[in-house]
Amino acid sequence: MDNILDFDMEELKSWMRDNCESEFRAKQIMDWIYKNGQCDFDNMTNIPKKLLEKLKTNFYIGTTELVKKCESKFRDTFKFLYEYKDGNMVETVVMKYKHGNSICISTQVGCRMGCKFCASTIDGMVRNLTAGEMLGQILKSQNEIGERISNIVLMGSGEPLDNYENVLKFLKIVNSEYSFNIGQRHITLSTCGIVPKIKDLADRDLQITLAISLHAPNDVMRKKIMPIANKYSIKDVIDACKYYIDKTGKRVSFEYALVSGVNDSLKCCDELTELISGLLCHVNLIPVNEVKENNLKKSSSDDVKKFYHRLIKNKIETTIRREMGSDIDAACGQLRRSYLKSKKL
Ligand code: SAH
Repeated sequence: MDNILDFDMEELKSWMRDNCESEFRAKQIMDWIYKNGQCDFDNMTNIPKKLLEKLKTNFYIGTTELVKKCESKFRDTFKFLYEYKDGNMVETVVMKYKHGNSICISTQVGCRMGCKFCASTIDGMVRNLTAGEMLGQILKSQNEIGERISNIVLMGSGEPLDNYENVLKFLKIVNSEYSFNIGQRHITLSTCGIVPKIKDLADRDLQITLAISLHAPNDVMRKKIMPIANKYSIKDVIDACKYYIDKTGKRVSFEYALVSGVNDSLKCCDELTELISGLLCHVNLIPVNEVKENNLKKSSSDDVKKFYHRLIKNKIETTIRREMGSDIDAACGQLRRSYLKSKKL
C-alpha cells in the first residue's frame, strides 16, 4: 500500500493510465484531499465505486493521528503530537498571526545533527519523513484548526537538508496549484548549515527563504554547541549564503539562540556583526528555550535587549523572536520527548 500523498499529479495520472482509468480522476482525487481536506476515500462521492475499491486496495491517505494537542494560553499557538502508521511520532506547531496561519513542520523523526541546546536530537535520528508524511502534517493541522494554512516553516524536528530529496518533493507538491498552493515566498527552510546542499538549493532557482541556524560568531564557539561546525566552517556557511543571495536575490535569515554566558556577550555581538555586515540578511534572536536534558540557560531579557540594540546600532537588521507557546513545550522535540517518557513510566 502506498501513501497517496507521496504522489504528485503526474504520478497519480500515470497510475490512472496504468490502471485503465481516466486521467481526470487524479485531479478529482487531489481536489478531495487538498481542497476539501477529505481523508476517507469512501466520502469521495463523484468517484465510481469500482475505482474507489481499486484505490483502497492500493493506497491509504497518509494523514497523521492526533495523539496530543496543546494550546497556548493566548490561544495563538497550537502544538500537535502526531503519530504515523508505524507508530513514530512527530511534532507540528501552528501559529496564528494576523496575516495568516503559519505551520512549523518536522522533516525527520528525531535528528542526527546533535546541537547541544536542542531536544529533538537527544535520542538521535529514527528515520526520514517522506514528502507525503510532511504534507500529512499540514492536512491534519488544517482540519484540526478549521482554517487554511498560508505559511510554512521547515523548522520542526529534523534537518531538512539531511532529507533533501523528500524535502524537494514536498516543496514541489505543496507549492502546486492542485495541492495546497502555498507560494514559495511563504515558505522558509531552516538548516544548521549543510553547505553543499545550500548551494544545490540555490541552483534550483526557488523563491523560498533560507534560514541558517548560526548561533555563534566563530568556529570555536560554534563547535561547542553545534557538531556540524566540525564539518563546515563558518566561512564556508557564509560563502554558501552569499551564493544563495546572488542566485536568488533573497534575503537570508540568521537564527541566533542566546544562551547565557555562552554566546550572548557584546563581544560576540560585534564579532557577529563583522561576519555578516554587508550581506542581504536579517538576524532573528531567540532566547534559548531551556531543555531539561542540558544545562544551558536562557539569556536574561536584559542581555537579550543589549544584544539586540547593539546589532541595531551596528546596522544589522534584527528581530527578537516572540516566544509563542513556550508554555506548551513548543521548542523542538520537547513534547514528543515528554510524551514518550511518560508512556515508559
Ligand atoms: N535542523 C534545522 C531545523 C530544525 S531546528 C536547523 O537546525 O535549522 C529549528 C530552529 O530551532 C533552529 O534554529 C534551531 O537551532 C532552533 N532550536 C532548537 N532547539 C532550540 C532551543 N532549545 N531553543 C531555541 N532554539 C532552538
